Amino acid sequence: MKRALLAAACGAAVSLAARRVSRFRPPVTAPAPADVEGLDADGAAARLAELVRIPTISSREPGEADPAAFARFRERLVELYPATHRALDREVLGDGALLYRWRSGTDLAPMVLMAHYDVVPVAGQDWSRDPFSGLVEDGVVHGRGAIDDKGALVAILEAVESLLADGFTPARDVYLSFGDDEEVAGMGAKLAVAALTARGIRPWAVLDEGGAVVSGVFPGVPGRTAVVGLAEKGLLDVELVTTDPGGHASAPVRGGAPARLARAILRIDDNPFPARLHDVVLGMVDALGRHAPVGYRTLFAHAEYLRPALAAILSRAGREANALVRTTVAITRLEGSRAANVLATRASAHANIRIALGETVASTVDRLRRVIDDPGVELRVVSGNDPSPVSRADNEAFALVSAAIRSVYPDAAVAPYVMVQASDARHLSQVCDSVYRFMPFDLTKDELAALHAADERISVSALHRGAGFYRYLIRNL
Ligand SMILES: [Zn+2]
Repeated sequence: MKRALLAAACGAAVSLAARRVSRFRPPVTAPAPADVEGLDADGAAARLAELVRIPTISSREPGEADPAAFARFRERLVELYPATHRALDREVLGDGALLYRWRSGTDLAPMVLMAHYDVVPVAGQDWSRDPFSGLVEDGVVHGRGAIDDKGALVAILEAVESLLADGFTPARDVYLSFGDDEEVAGMGAKLAVAALTARGIRPWAVLDEGGAVVSGVFPGVPGRTAVVGLAEKGLLDVELVTTDPGGHASAPVRGGAPARLARAILRIDDNPFPARLHDVVLGMVDALGRHAPVGYRTLFAHAEYLRPALAAILSRAGREANALVRTTVAITRLEGSRAANVLATRASAHANIRIALGETVASTVDRLRRVIDDPGVELRVVSGNDPSPVSRADNEAFALVSAAIRSVYPDAAVAPYVMVQASDARHLSQVCDSVYRFMPFDLTKDELAALHAADERISVSALHRGAGFYRYLIRNL
């Protein structure tokens, strides 16, 4: 009798699970027609190439950036996008951050579209083409900033300019916020937030750089996926310091400053932060898992009950997937004695740490202390910010971003994700609970790898679809 009951219970559980898997399918969504009429793909590529040619390289060293290049960039924008500069209000904040307002005539909360026009340096990189020649060759725009983030800036302006040519007025105000110092975590975005706050404006939604349309990044999911960042990890810089009396290198002691520092580094390396599946990553598994083949789908359909197992799988699925599920620590800079024959009186290591959602600067430093377990190793927090708040994915703003994606990438699966890099968008979280991080470009693995590296480039077709994405978004606000 007992056995019969058990068999019945098992049978019920199996059929429930089977039903769950059979229902675990991509959502049926109405097609969103592409809105790329009125856009000029080659013209957009030529304008991007021109802007790539202006070397707006930002630098943390005072005096190293060239303010004339930034001024030239702003002047060229006025010439390349005349209708935008006639119709929108424009202010220059601080050293050169741009804030535009496209008035709707309504008092609905506005949409903020963000990008930045500073770029990272090219020094020490092996480029196959001149990074500032703005070459357009075989349907590809080459050069520093082609994607990050002049590509997005141009796609936004192409959309606005073309809509103005159609005589279009948006249903709610649209702000364009273009930073001049994103790559050095500067003031631009903070000034934009201050300007909005001073006017009592709380945006309806904010869209900044972040995820893109990519293939083959999620285990078991074929096809293209568009990942939209709902949050970003925290960023913490810590210096580990050990000290010693020093002396001549001919008479060293055991356990000197470099040895204690090395032991601390190895302890950090041997004790990675725990892997956890945060709700945002669970949402990503849920959205993308529906597109996986049956075997994987069975697994992903029960993701909620399998969080520890999935966190373990993702942590072994590659560097990017690992970074999604845990706080990571990179030791980037090491210093010891400055002379070959003198003992170090001080040894230091710089740890660049990306804090997972659910943890904080304080909890991260606490854990580092416990893991290092050596009072002789001093931990100095150089700078740190907690992970951003998590934006909603169950509202109209996210639905609009998804529809805009489907309009130009109809085959892509849209999913939320956690951005592992820091961006200007985090400042906007102070005034808006719908801050999304997405670049509307389909990028190959090689193109993704070229961000901040040699041979950055974007295809003319991706740029064109990107402009179509923003056009759809603005038209349907
Ligand atoms: Zn960027």
